[in-house]
Amino acid sequence: MLALRKTRAAFGVELADVPTPAAPAHDGDALIEIAAAGICGSDLHAYAWTDSYAFMADLLPVTIGHEFAGTVRAVGPSVTGLAVGDRVVCMPTITCGTCAGCRAGRPLECDARSIVGLHRDGAFAGSVSLPAANCLRLPDGLPFEAAALAEPLAVGINAVNLAEVEPGDAVVVMGPGPIGMGAAWVAHHRGARVLLVGLNDPVRLTRARDMGLTNLADLANETLEAAIGRVFGRRPDRMIEASGAAASLDQGVPLLRPGGLFVVSGIHKGSYNLDLTRFVREKKQLRAAHDSTPDGFAEALRLLQANTEVLSRLITHREPLARGVDAMACASGGQAVKVLLLPHDETQQDETQGADV
Ligand SMILES: [Zn+2]
Ligand SMILES: [Zn+2]
Repeated sequence: MLALRKTRAAFGVELADVPTPAAPAHDGDALIEIAAAGICGSDLHAYAWTDSYAFMADLLPVTIGHEFAGTVRAVGPSVTGLAVGDRVVCMPTITCGTCAGCRAGRPLECDARSIVGLHRDGAFAGSVSLPAANCLRLPDGLPFEAAALAEPLAVGINAVNLAEVEPGDAVVVMGPGPIGMGAAWVAHHRGARVLLVGLNDPVRLTRARDMGLTNLADLANETLEAAIGRVFGRRPDRMIEASGAAASLDQGVPLLRPGGLFVVSGIHKGSYNLDLTRFVREKKQLRAAHDSTPDGFAEALRLLQANTEVLSRLITHREPLARGVDAMACASGGQAVKVLLLPHDETQQDETQGADV
């Protein structure tokens, strides 16, 4: 089968022909045929070979991709609760089950986590074998392409939860990629007033407007402070950074209201200097959001089912896996929000269903 792989500790990815798995790799695994798989910011970091993904060097070659939906084709002998033919998405973080965090029932704190498509083979291929415990069944009728948005939407939900967003809050979301756009939509959906901010992002901000997010700012044309004044007329209660640029914190943290919460969810390559005196006097909180929770995934699937059409506007491009190398370049370019790869489509198409529904 075709697979889009990271093969070298350098810029780029390659299409390779790899053996098609005939059975789940482990007793507790499910073998899943991939219908649709989204390109994530982390895939783009691996592609660009930024410093924060150097940990992959010892693990190569790895088939990348972790945001996907597909159909269970086989299950290992110890699998219960999942059957051949089930339509699923996957929670891509595999926890060790034995560290202190795992034993205390806090899997997000696992210190030996591995991530599908970064530490082990992932979903930019015809099929993938992974622990059945990481799979969630799709609600009836939810198309595969929309379901492939569950992972990034769950990450956005987790960021909004950590920001403790309440109805009526003034919330700034920085970075109009899939995570920022999802977080902004979720905060808006929960009744917050949301300002979504980009930098040289006309295409992505236009797509955000199509999703009903009307308070937008491009920092190429307006300062963050001016945009906040224009939209809220006061300092924001919450800020969520999903840009991966430390400048977002430089600009944003001073503008947050005293006692406000600032959630960082982007992956950064550098460090950030904090004015601790002002930070302490204004009693602000800085929090880190990464990954999501089973509850976040369940909520993402519910939201996707109830709002399939509007949330599917996050998808700007659909490509067959054979065009995966070009698709990675496209997803890196700032003209795309979510790029989906369709492993079983050899022609580009705009259908809402994957193969073998
Ligand atoms: Zn992702
Ligand atoms: Zn653990």
